[in-house]
This record gives sequence, C-alpha cells and structure tokens, in this order.
Amino acid sequence: MKVIVVGTGYVGLVTGACLADVGVEVCCIDIDVQKTENLKKGILPIYEPGLDVIVKNNFERGRLTFSTDLAAHIKGADAIFICVGTPPGEDGSADMKYVLQVASDIGSSIEDYVLVITKSTVPVGSSHKVRKAISDQLQARGAQIDFDVASNPEFLKEGAAIKDFMSPDRIVVGIDSDRAKEVIDTIYKPFLLNGYRILYMDIPSAEMTKYAANAMLATRISFMNDVANLCELVGANINHVRNGIGTDPRIGKKFLYAGVGYGGSCFPKDVKALIQIGLEHNKPMRLLESVEAINEDQKIVLFEKISRYFDHQLAGKTIAVWGLAFKPNTDDMREAPSLVLIEALTQAGASVRAFDPVAVAEAKHLLGDNDKVHFCDDVYETVEAADAIALVTEWNEFRLPNWDKIKETLKTPVIFDGRNIYDDVQLAREGFTYFGIGNRG
Ligand code: NAD
Repeated sequence: MKVIVVGTGYVGLVTGACLADVGVEVCCIDIDVQKTENLKKGILPIYEPGLDVIVKNNFERGRLTFSTDLAAHIKGADAIFICVGTPPGEDGSADMKYVLQVASDIGSSIEDYVLVITKSTVPVGSSHKVRKAISDQLQARGAQIDFDVASNPEFLKEGAAIKDFMSPDRIVVGIDSDRAKEVIDTIYKPFLLNGYRILYMDIPSAEMTKYAANAMLATRISFMNDVANLCELVGANINHVRNGIGTDPRIGKKFLYAGVGYGGSCFPKDVKALIQIGLEHNKPMRLLESVEAINEDQKIVLFEKISRYFDHQLAGKTIAVWGLAFKPNTDDMREAPSLVLIEALTQAGASVRAFDPVAVAEAKHLLGDNDKVHFCDDVYETVEAADAIALVTEWNEFRLPNWDKIKETLKTPVIFDGRNIYDDVQLAREGFTYFGIGNRG
C-alpha cells in the first residue's frame, strides 16, 4: 500500500508517521522547502511527544519520505490524504484555497485510480469542490482517470496525537463508493486490530461531525466559564460544582474545567466556521455565537483580576507568566490565551517574565521584539523580583513547585491561577494569596 500525505503540519506529519509505522509506504509532501529539508534531517516543525522517534525510525527504514514534488511521487499511490490548513477567512469561514490547490495539483498529475481523502477540517459540501477541482484538471488534460473522494476528519489532540491516531475512539469516514471503502478498510486495518471502529457515513455527515464535535467541546468550556463567573458572585466554588455535576454519567467529567478560555488552532476556528456555515444557510447558530463571545471575554478575566488586585496601577509591576502554549504538551501558540494576557499586561505598563517548557521559541516568534517581555529558563527565574504569578497553561511541572524557593524572590506572595490547578487552602498555608477562576474573586 502506498499513501501520499499532503501537508506536514500537526495532522499530516502525525498521519504520515503513524501510517508508515504500521508498514505503509508513505510520502509526505509540503510546499515549504525548509520544513521538508529539515524533516529529512530529522528536525521536526512541531513539538509532539513521541513523534520524533517515529519519524526518525520510519525515515531510516525508508518507509517515510519527504518531498515538495507531488507529481514526482504520485505514481502508484492508492490514496492521497489532504492535510493542509483551513484557516479562517475574514468572515470566519474556512479558507479552502490550500485544499483546492492540492486537489487541482492531484488532477494535474494522477495517472491511475486514487482515493483522495480530505483530513483537513472543511465545511459541509467541500468534497464536491475537491472532486470538481480534480475533474477540471483531468478535463484540461483530456484524461479519463477514475478517482473517488472521501472525508476522514481528524480528531487527534495535540499533545496526545500519536496515541489518538494509533488507538482512536473512532475513525469517522464519509464515502460514496464501494471502491473507496475498500481502500479505507485496507489503510486502517492495522489499527482495527486494537478493537476500535470505523464509522462509515455519507460525506456531508462526516464533514459536519468534525465541526459538531469541536463545537460541542467548546460549548462545554464556555458553559463552565460562564457558570464559574457566576459562582464568584454568589459565593460558590466552581471546582465543587464541577465535581457535583461531572459525576452524573449523563454529563461526564471531561471538558468541564473553568479557566482562561479555549485557544489553539481548532476550537476558535471551527466554532467561527460553523457560525458562518449557519449564516450562509439562514440558520444563525445562536448558541455558538454565545460560546464564542463568552470565550473572548474569558481570555481577559485573569488580567482583570491582576489589575484589580493592584488597584489598576500596573505600571512598573512585573508579572511572572507560567505557561504560554494554548494547552500543555504542545508548542502550539495559535490563539493562545497567554498572548491576550501578555498584551493586556504590557499595554497597562507591566513587564512580563515568562516561561513555558516547550513554547518559548514559538512565543518569541509571535511576540517579536518586546522589551517588556523577558523569557526565562524555568519558573524560579520568572519570579525573580516579580510582583505576582499568573498561571496560564497547566503543565505538569507547574503543579508542585518549591513554594519556599519561590517566596524568596517573589516580591508579593500572590498567585492568579488561570487553570484552577492549585488548592487555595494549601496555598494559604504556604503563605500565598490565591485567586482562581470561579472560586475567589
Ligand atoms: P498546519 O498549519 O500545522 O500544517 C499545514 C501544512 O500544510 C503546512 O506545513 C503547509 O506548508 C502545508 N501546505 C499548505 N499548502 C500546501 C500545498 N498546496 N501543498 C503542500 N503542502 C501545503 O495545519 P494542521 O494544524 O496540521 O491542520 C491541518 C488541518 O487539519 C486543518 O484543517 C485543521 O483544522 C485540521 N485539524 C487540525 C488538528 C490539530 O490539532 N492541529 C486536529 C484536527 C484537525
């Protein structure tokens, strides 16, 4: 079996590496020459636990190759996965230009039957556009070559992507031909040995499933943040409320954490895209409009707490920011709440001393030259002469630091916990003033 994966970002590189790892011959294509050359040297464009080893092993064994030239490698491919980005356009709708460019490139170069599988998150109806872009090129060439399209949305979580790909809860596939099903069955068979399922459905339903899944998860987060903010006003504690409702099996425990809002490359983009799809069909998605608005407000809540604590006099203050990535175990900073906090703090005249176990390079790239932001090598360096700590990303290594050592250099023992990972009673014993989300104002 030979597979081409187009796009070597989080989704494409994980897909290519994991398929190669079960024995498939995989060629990963990207238009980014530097990225492709780096991958050949074993330098990965992203941090994803375990991915470097799988890429290295399979590259060395010759099962995983990298190139910028789709046409040169397409011969003999059974399937092509499209894994390029679908960033939000100006109106929030998913920008399909990269996907359609790839479809067009495929139409220009296929020689035999191939199944074209869209893994990128794309609006309902995109498969028709992909099919048309391929057909237009075939027609221009005067070529009559069979092909099928399929939708196979990706549900991997950054930070746990290898596990999610190797043993996912489910594989969702939209198809409209038996031949396409045969190819999909063959590709995913090695993974089915672990006992999980492929859910086959029509293509529009598969495309919608991806948006609905992310929109549901984002809704749970915004719901909990909304309730958390009310908890503060009525004297309740969101952590108790979370336990109280999460133990109800109809609700479940996951995605019930109040915090500084969701970020990353998927939730914000996919919620916006689904709202836009609704508008295009005269069906305003009123719930999701609120989900998004709540999230935008939530990103500033930690700043407001810090500002209130210092009587809105932040000029000359230094805040230690713990965690920059939008969530732990990734260096992805896209739409990270830390960026909003840092921007607000520096605008208010404060300086920031920031640390993240893996995302500092990416943060430097995004924040550019800013003399008010100093990056540190660990949490202890961040607190040197700092006035307060703001925890933004719940990395494991932040859970039990040496508080005594921290108090030696932190000017005021006050902590603003944007992820509710600390216990206010315990921190009070350690001599800290504690502010979380939805428990103490
Ligand atoms: P990414 O931005 O990390 O990577 C996309 C890659 O595609 C880049 O390396 C880019 O150079 C390459 N590319 C763009 N145009 C190309 C072309 N014409 N030919 C070859 N390569 C090209 O994106 P990502 O985070 O991997 O996301 C890809 C898609 O998967 C998006 O639609 C996203 O919504 C979806 N998705 C992402 C995740 C996630 O956790 N990141 C999870 C599920 C689904």
